[in-house]
Order: sequence, then structure tokens, then C-alpha cells
Amino acid sequence: MNMVKEKQKWLVVANWKMNPVSGKLAKQVFSSVKKVANKMRNVDTVVCPPYIYMENMKTSGHRFVLGAQDLFPVGEGSFTGNISYLQLKNLGVKYSLIGHSEKRNQGETNEAINEKVKAGLKGMITPIICIGEKERDESGEYLKFIKEQISSSLSGLPKTSIKDIVVAYEPVWAIGSTAKREPTTKEIFEVTIFIKKVLSDIYDTKSVPPTKILYGGSVDDKNVEIILKEGGVDGVLVGRASLDPKKFSEILKKVENIKR
Ligand code: PEP
Repeated sequence: MNMVKEKQKWLVVANWKMNPVSGKLAKQVFSSVKKVANKMRNVDTVVCPPYIYMENMKTSGHRFVLGAQDLFPVGEGSFTGNISYLQLKNLGVKYSLIGHSEKRNQGETNEAINEKVKAGLKGMITPIICIGEKERDESGEYLKFIKEQISSSLSGLPKTSIKDIVVAYEPVWAIGSTAKREPTTKEIFEVTIFIKKVLSDIYDTKSVPPTKILYGGSVDDKNVEIILKEGGVDGVLVGRASLDPKKFSEILKKVENIKR
């Protein structure tokens, strides 16, 4: 029996959102990031571009792969405007964000997210389930909110699946250009522990490989080191900074050098 424990790698996910405005620009960002990402030994990098650019983005190996920003949970059929998990699978997509706060703001429910998580797993696409409170309150109601988001997204999933999902903690107040502030690493650490506790209350997590937990919200080349060293997470989800190839490459290089 091979008893050598596989070294855990960091996971860095780039969410390009609805950017950039042309395929030419998308290709430029993609090529620069690809060069750096392919050299990383301790980091798995996932780039989530808009769907229309994916066909032209070739990846090879497992260090640098494509992710989607969302998926539709039915394989094919009369669903105008949607992209199915099967279409993504056939394109070679390995991950998908699910339940990003910007989708939730457009009306996506925990139930819809649960269906998408199941479809992703069916298509061998790792769901990156985004959770996070809109604001914090002193009495800790936000923790109940996070717990509800986790338990309903995972409803009906067998225990064996939890190693195949990723949970991204993205406090809405810390995301994007309207972010109120960055959380302290203590705040990130506390929620990371809380997510692990919620997962172990639902499943007996001792007997299964752990679910990866990411932090997302205003991550850049200046704060990524401290977040990974003190936040207790397995990686980061990067929005704005992932569209700047210089900044994103710097993030990857810094993460590469952080010991796990
Ligand atoms: C996001 O929206 O997923 C995100 C992390 O954004 P930003 O890094 O720009 O705050």
C-alpha cells in the first residue's frame, strides 16, 4: 500500500466576471497567466472566463485549468440562454463557481444552487460553492446565515462527495469595487473554522479527505500572503486582480512560496 501522503497544493481561482470586452484582450490575459501558472509546483490555478472565450483557451495538464462562472443543471434541451454542465464537461471545464453573490443578487436561491452542485458533480466538474453574509451583526446572526447557505447547498449529497467540492467564503461586504473594507485575517480564520464545524456536524468529516475552503474578497498581490498564512484557508478566489496579468502572476508567485 502506498502510504506517502500527497502534498496539499494551494488553490487559486480567477473570476473574470463579465470581463474583458473582447476576445483579443481575453487571449492576452490568458496567455500571460498560463505561462506563469504552468510553472507553479505548489499551486493549482483555475481561470473562470466568460463562456464565449473558453473555446479559444487551451490548457494542458492539471496545474492550470478552466472553470466556469456558473452552470445549468440540465444536460441539454430547451433552455434558451443557458450553458449546461454537460456542454462544459465536454469542453474540458474542470470547476464551476456556483452561487456567486452576484448570481444570488439576481435571484438565485439555495435550492437552485443545490441542483447545480449535484449537476456539477455528475459531470465531474468540481463545484466551488460561494457563500457569505451581506453584512455582519454583533449578535452573530451572520453565522446562522452562513450555516443555512452551506446546509441547503449540500442537501442530499452523500458524504463521499464532500471531498469533491470547494467552499469559497466571500463576505459580500468585502467583494468588488464597492467593498466596505477587507476582513481581518482573524475574521477569515474564525469563519473558516466555523465552516469546518458546520461540515463536520452534517458529515462525519474525520473519515473523509477535507473539503477545500477558499477566501474571496479584495484579494491582491499585497494581502494574499497574510491571508494564506493566517486565514486557515486552502486558497483564494480572486476577482478584480485576476484581470491584471502582472498582479495575478505576482499573486501566483507569492502563493507558490508559502509553505503549507
Ligand atoms: C469575487 O467577486 O468573486 C471577488 C473575489 O471579487 P474581488 O476580488 O474583486 O473583490
